Amino acid sequence: MKLKILVTAGDGVGPEVTNEAVAVLQDVAAIAGHTLEFEEKRIGGVAIVADGTPLPADTIKAALDSDAVLLGAVGGNEFNSLPSDKRPEAGLLQIRSALGGFANLRPAFSFKELAANTPLRQEIVEGADILFVRELLGGLYFGKPREWDQAKGEAWNTMRYTKAEIVRVARVAFQLASKRRKKLTSVDKANILEVSRLWRATVNEVAAEFPEVEVEHQYVDAMSMHLMNRPRDFDVVLTENLFGDILTDEASVITGSMGMLPSATIGGKVNLYEPVHGSAPDIAGKGLANPVGAILSGALILRHTAGLEKEPAAIEAAVRKVLEQGYRTSDLVRGSKQGITVLSTKEMGAKVREAVKTLLK
Ligand code: NAD
Repeated sequence: MKLKILVTAGDGVGPEVTNEAVAVLQDVAAIAGHTLEFEEKRIGGVAIVADGTPLPADTIKAALDSDAVLLGAVGGNEFNSLPSDKRPEAGLLQIRSALGGFANLRPAFSFKELAANTPLRQEIVEGADILFVRELLGGLYFGKPREWDQAKGEAWNTMRYTKAEIVRVARVAFQLASKRRKKLTSVDKANILEVSRLWRATVNEVAAEFPEVEVEHQYVDAMSMHLMNRPRDFDVVLTENLFGDILTDEASVITGSMGMLPSATIGGKVNLYEPVHGSAPDIAGKGLANPVGAILSGALILRHTAGLEKEPAAIEAAVRKVLEQGYRTSDLVRGSKQGITVLSTKEMGAKVREAVKTLLK
């Protein structure tokens, strides 16, 4: 198997965590006899400084020429006063649009070893395994009109969806649910919003194609509560862009840290893989970032783009093994440190590589 992967490490902790993900992928490829070619391009704040734009044309070109894109994170406090279309985050929205992926898969799962370390009770989170499917190219983030009229002191955005946009993401969610525990929860705000009523009616239509999948609908406000009270009840959760953005950050609590969670954006020309967290300027450059979200995003490249299973499963098992051995980055340490060894970003990456080598050999 041969893959060309574009790495857009971006800002803050982005380069630190993608370095570890690339090192893990290189080791896996060497052991399993695959060829992975990596190329690097700029996105976000580093691109604004070097190229005057958050997404240079050669980054888009290289992304479209590759088999998969691994993104770190974008954003930095020094860019906060720029208008939204000039900020680092605009680069992220533009690359998502250019690649055309509309289904953002964001797992939120509990690791046995971390279950006692979350702010939730262990018996509530242990065993939770949710796959969020967030619509990524529609809704408030892209809907027009959008404007901040500074003179009038008024601003507006538009939450807009077409039926076709809902159908295609719902199909992805149902297909994934049919391969998992066959339960799909669709989240909306249909008691208030017209766009949510279209969402719910369309999801019900698509559901008819997947009779084996049980469907339920939840309002987003109630869902934010259920996620914390009974996360084990959910399998695939399908939702629109903004609700998905918020709920997936909330769901990271189940795992123990946002630094643990990977994501994949599929359905477009080239799939985009990135950890769920942002550029974490508060810890950037200190070697404190947890690289696991990026490493598991690398595993998702092997699963969703390369169609492999043994290798990504080995990476996931290696992460579990390292946690079992008591190794943690500092974001995962809460309460007692007995039996725990706190590692830097690089040390954590090295432990995962060591475990992957043992598992694959
Ligand atoms: P953030 O995810 O960067 O950080 C939130 C908190 O989680 C911080 O305390 C941070 O230290 C911690 N954290 C995040 N990743 C971690 C990791 N790998 N290991 C350990 N701890 C980690 O979110 P934020 O602070 O709201 O945003 C910071 C910047 O990132 C902003 O400019 C924002 O726009 C941007 N952002 C980018 C993306 C992206 O690139 N996909 C996503 C979210 C936010």
